[in-house]
Amino acid sequence: MATHELPKTYDFQATEQRIYSWWEKSGYFRPVNDPKDPGFSPSRKPYVISIPPPNVTGELHLGHAMFVSVEDLMIRYHRMKGIPTLWVPGSDHAGIATQLQVEKLLAKEGLTREAIGREEFLRRTWAWKEKYGGIITQQIRRLGASCDWERERFTLDEGLSRAVREAFVRLFDKGLIYRGPRLINWSPGLKTAVSDLEVEYSEEPGTLYYFKYRMADNPEEFIAVATTRPETILGDTAVAVHPEDERYQKFIGRQVMVPILGRKIPVIADDYVTREFGSGALKITPGHDPNDYEIGQRHNLPIISVLDEAARINANGGPYQGQDRFECRENIWEDMRQADLVIKEEPYLLNVPRTQRGGEIVEPMVSTQWFVKIQPLAEKALEAVRDGRIRIVPERFTKVYYNWLENIQDWCISRQLWWGHRIPVWYCADCGKMTVTREDPDRCIHCASRRIEQDADVLDTWFSSGLWPFSTLGWPEHTPDLSYFYPTTMMETAYDILFFWVARMIMMGLEFTGEVPFNTVYLHGLIRDEHGRKMSKSYDNATDPLIIMDELGTDALRFTLLVGSSPGNDMNLDVKRVEANRNFANKIWNAGRFVLGCLGQVKELETLQTEWTMADGWIWARLQGLVRDVERLFQNHQYGEAGRQLYEFFWSEFADWYLEIAKNQMAAGGERAYTTASTLIRVLDLSLRMLHPFMPFITEELWGHLRKAVLDSPLVSEAADWPEALIVASWPMPRTEEDWEAQRVADFTLMQEVVRAIRNLRAEKNVPPGKLLPATMAAGEQMEMIQAQTAVIASLAQLDPGRLMVCDRLADKPAGHVALVVGAMEIYLPLSGLVDLDEERIRLSKNLTEAEGQITRLEKLLGSPFGEKAPAEVVQKEREKLTGFRETAIKLKGQLDGLG
Ligand SMILES: [Zn+2]
Repeated sequence: MATHELPKTYDFQATEQRIYSWWEKSGYFRPVNDPKDPGFSPSRKPYVISIPPPNVTGELHLGHAMFVSVEDLMIRYHRMKGIPTLWVPGSDHAGIATQLQVEKLLAKEGLTREAIGREEFLRRTWAWKEKYGGIITQQIRRLGASCDWERERFTLDEGLSRAVREAFVRLFDKGLIYRGPRLINWSPGLKTAVSDLEVEYSEEPGTLYYFKYRMADNPEEFIAVATTRPETILGDTAVAVHPEDERYQKFIGRQVMVPILGRKIPVIADDYVTREFGSGALKITPGHDPNDYEIGQRHNLPIISVLDEAARINANGGPYQGQDRFECRENIWEDMRQADLVIKEEPYLLNVPRTQRGGEIVEPMVSTQWFVKIQPLAEKALEAVRDGRIRIVPERFTKVYYNWLENIQDWCISRQLWWGHRIPVWYCADCGKMTVTREDPDRCIHCASRRIEQDADVLDTWFSSGLWPFSTLGWPEHTPDLSYFYPTTMMETAYDILFFWVARMIMMGLEFTGEVPFNTVYLHGLIRDEHGRKMSKSYDNATDPLIIMDELGTDALRFTLLVGSSPGNDMNLDVKRVEANRNFANKIWNAGRFVLGCLGQVKELETLQTEWTMADGWIWARLQGLVRDVERLFQNHQYGEAGRQLYEFFWSEFADWYLEIAKNQMAAGGERAYTTASTLIRVLDLSLRMLHPFMPFITEELWGHLRKAVLDSPLVSEAADWPEALIVASWPMPRTEEDWEAQRVADFTLMQEVVRAIRNLRAEKNVPPGKLLPATMAAGEQMEMIQAQTAVIASLAQLDPGRLMVCDRLADKPAGHVALVVGAMEIYLPLSGLVDLDEERIRLSKNLTEAEGQITRLEKLLGSPFGEKAPAEVVQKEREKLTGFRETAIKLKGQLDGLG
């Protein structure tokens, strides 16, 4: 049957693309029982995942590779179980990231977005998206992602834009969206508000500046105050002290003068002030500090903003107007020094807020923005996890989730960008009222004036991605997809976007659909380099998954990511692991070649009566145990452990042991060969099915060859067991363990230990491979079993079958033998067989001469004046050496005597 011979090596480069196109063309990524199909049955429960939409600006990194691997594994497993399975793909318009890309291109032409205007800018951004937006989804395909691409969505496409409008208007009508001045994080570089979650804090050296707040009624008196940002003095509206601070009682209620500006502001008492920090008095700048903002609200203080949108000092800053914030910091401090207002400066460790994108320092600023009143939404989202409608894996993140939602602040949803969902609010120039509608209005709904203008801002990207699980299925329309596939089943993502995204989907899902958007949240860890550092371009340690796939294959990368990870824990990626798993792929291929070769030797039989050998029964029982374990581990989301067990089974049991034994069984021909080939096929078939979700390409390719060979062979096999592709073949069903299995596994394990013990001895004694040794085994209660396996043992341990004796027990220990003890068994191998006696005698004599030479030398040395004059510890060292050589000499003499 040479027609089914496999190529010698597995060529992943020639295979992956071909297999993927074939899957996609054949429609395997579409759900079975699609609501669009005739005969659709709504009662079959589907398994659904919505992909975490990558940014359209994205280039594949290991984070993508990770979630695609895990989700594809989940999807393939359920698909093979015959469950209607849908994985919805798509991408996110990624407001800031995309806008920056296009602005960068404009800058090269010497243009800005303001120069070309909003309409032209959006036209260019769409053109950019058409050109580059598909790159990331193409790269995700390379990972083997079996998404239903016919259902691919984009957060700015027409349907999703309608969903965003609907969501905004509904929240607005319910009074859950409001507009107002609030302190927000402002990015002066990006000129937009950024959310708390987009701000990263870094510890940096700075200065604590101490200065005088002179009393307005008596400039001789002053309160010492400290700040890290002197430019904010310009916006101070009070000085606060602790109400019980003895030092400051006399100042409370009086007024102080703002340095340089001379404005009068009150001294107030608030127990937020820490008496021990700095001077114990706090300047209050409600316009530029979140804590001061709170205090300002409590005391009804005015809010003075001193910065413009580029973080330059505005008109409120008097003489400093127009200066950059850091320039002003130096200048005002110098002017205060001249005015004798400076007390001292101290080095101080700052916690500096910087934007995730761009990295510049964020400025807290008061700005008029749109907010979602989050409390009512958060309560429902807390409830859904508390009552078990949503389960978070691993469970420890549940607490983190509660904690965040219990302390949540209103969500600032407006962004001063152009790329995104424009806020559906129109302001009337005549009556001043707002029109908020689903359809673009042409007049004010209050006074019918046509002089209306839409809000210039767009919505936070997370507003649209918060609707993702249902907007992608057609919401707000009542589509067949929405009613069948929603709520989805599994939300799988990295734990670092639990709040950014997962919590918001839960809040929005409950608000708009009345149902949880998914039943389970599975959080995987972040990938770090082999030293445990976070992968980042600035560390230059970012491993490019595209290069790894080019060099080592997609399967090897996927297997490494899946096996190296456990829920919620970070993993270190070492390219050496990927190489090892490339070797595993080759091992699978070689095993496949061997099995197909065996299949070619099988002849048709009239009848079949041959029973299984012990090895056949063992590998079958082990395989069934593996099927049960993998099933249990998958149910518990322990995919990494399942992969490790599959690897161990395939390599250490099937390839290393069973294939070796099968060679001999095939050589026996006839019924034995037939039975052996059947076993080989079954084990390889089921192994490939279970490995498929981990390594989809090589398993599909090999299984295809196997299928053809089996269907063409004389082996009896149901064609129904061999559908046209592995991706849609059935998942192995766990069977309950049968009575004989445990004993068979125990027997075989004992036999393995016997073989291993003999192999180790051979290696230790350098017995040349191929040299057959005689052996005597006292097997006790295992005598019968071992006797039946002598041929197998002899073959695996390279014993001479003609001189292999197995008995119950031996009266005397045979002389001149080495004894090995395995459990209750004893194995004797003649020493003369293990070593060449003459050579060994020469080697031992040589070693003895050397040892005796050392003894003589050391005895002489220690007898000389050295023994008395040298430092005690040096002499002691030499004595120890002497004792060592004496012991060695005695051992060597004994061994020489033993040789006879
Ligand atoms: Zn109006």
